[in-house]
Amino acid sequence: MEANSNRPDTSPRKLPARGLSTESVHAGELRQKPGDSITDPIFCASTFTFASTADLMDYVEGRSKREEYGRYGNPNEKSVEGKLAALDGAESAIVYSSGMAAIVGLLMAKLNAGDEIVFFDQCYHRSREFCAKHLARFGVVTRQVPTGDFAAMEAAITPNTKMLVSESPTNPHLTTVDLEQFVAIGKAHEVETLIDATLATPYNVRPIDWGVDYVLHSATKYMGGHNDLLAGAICGSEEKLDDVRQLRGILGGVNSPHNLYLLERGLKTFELRMQRHNENGQRVAEFLQSHRRVSQVYYPGLASHPTHDVAAAQMRGFGGLITFEVADADWQETARIVDAAEIPRIAPSLGGVESLIEQPMVMSYFNYSPAERERFGIADNMIRYSCGIENSDDLIADLKQALEA
Ligand SMILES: *Cc1c(COP(=O)(O)O)cnc(C)c1O
Repeated sequence: MEANSNRPDTSPRKLPARGLSTESVHAGELRQKPGDSITDPIFCASTFTFASTADLMDYVEGRSKREEYGRYGNPNEKSVEGKLAALDGAESAIVYSSGMAAIVGLLMAKLNAGDEIVFFDQCYHRSREFCAKHLARFGVVTRQVPTGDFAAMEAAITPNTKMLVSESPTNPHLTTVDLEQFVAIGKAHEVETLIDATLATPYNVRPIDWGVDYVLHSATKYMGGHNDLLAGAICGSEEKLDDVRQLRGILGGVNSPHNLYLLERGLKTFELRMQRHNENGQRVAEFLQSHRRVSQVYYPGLASHPTHDVAAAQMRGFGGLITFEVADADWQETARIVDAAEIPRIAPSLGGVESLIEQPMVMSYFNYSPAERERFGIADNMIRYSCGIENSDDLIADLKQALEA
C-alpha cells in the first residue's frame, strides 16, 4: 500500500535522478569488469600490490587512486558504497561490518570529551547502551528525551551539544519522527542530526532530502534483505564523512569481500522486496487490528497510530515491521501465541525475506527490571512481527490460527 501515491508531492523529497532499482542494479559498479564478468568478481585480497616503488610513490603522493590495504577499502566495498549512496540520494556512503559498528564509528569520529548528544528515547537497545554506558566513559554526555517531544529536545540542547539522534520509525513502537521539525531544531542550534533509518529504508523515506546530516542503516535488515549477513552504513556528504572514513580505517570494522558481494546481490532486488514488505506489513497490520485477541497494534500505516499523520506525509510506505499487544495476556500466554505461529521463525532481526516473530520482553529485555521495561514501553504481552516476502494471505491465515489456538 503506497500511502501517498495519489497525493500531490508537497514534501521536499527530491526524486532520484534514476529509479531505485536502476540505481541498486547499476550504481557503484564498473561498466566493464575484470574478466568481462557481468557481476562483480569477489576480490579475495587482504592487500593490493604495487608494480614498483614509482607506482607506490604515485599513490602516496596522490597522483593515483587505487586500493592499498584491505582495512582501508576494497573494490567490492566501492561497488556497495556507490549503491547505498545512490539509493539514499547522498554524496557518499561508508559501509561497516554491522549497524552497531556504523553507529560507533560515526559517534567516535564526531564526539570529544565534554560534548553532548540528545536522543529520542525509543531506540534500538544497544544504541542506547553504547551512548549511556560507553560514550559516558569517554566523557560524552547523553541526554534522552521522550520520542517526538521536540520541546524537550530543544530544552536539552546546551552549548556543548554536538548531535541530535533519532530513529524513524522507532523500534519497537514504530513512532515516526517529523524530520522537518527535527532538522529545523538542529539548524537553529547549529547541531548536526543523525537519523537511524533502518526501519524506513530509502524506499520509504530519504532523510538526506529533508536536510538530515547523517543517515544510518543496519544493512543487516532490509538492505541485505536475506537474513544471511551483517552490515551497516552511514550516508552523508563527502566532506562530513571524510573523518568518519579515516577512523573506520583505524577502528577496522570492515566487511570481507564475500560479505560485500552478498550485500550487493541482496541490494539488486531492494525495491521489489520493499514493495512486498510494505504491502505485507499493511495487510497484516490491518488484520491484527481487526482481531478481537489483539488490544493494540503499532504500525505507521494504521490511522490509529499516534504518528500516522506524520508517517503518511513523510513516507511512501510503512515497511514490514509490526508490533502488537495481546489482549489480557501475561508473558507466558503471549509466548504460546509466538510458539503457535508456524510460518515466522522465532529470532531477533527484521527486514529479511523470511518472516520473524519475537516477544521483546523475552528476546531483548528479559534481564531488565520491570520498572526499566515499563520506562522503555516494553509490555509483557507485546509481540514484534517482521513480515517477510511470503504471501500475505498465508501470513494472515497463520497468525489467525496462532491467535485462536
Ligand atoms: C539491528 C539494528 C541496529 C544494529 O544493527 P546491526 O547490524 O545488528 O549491528 C541498529 N538500529 C536499528 C534500528 C536496528 O534495527
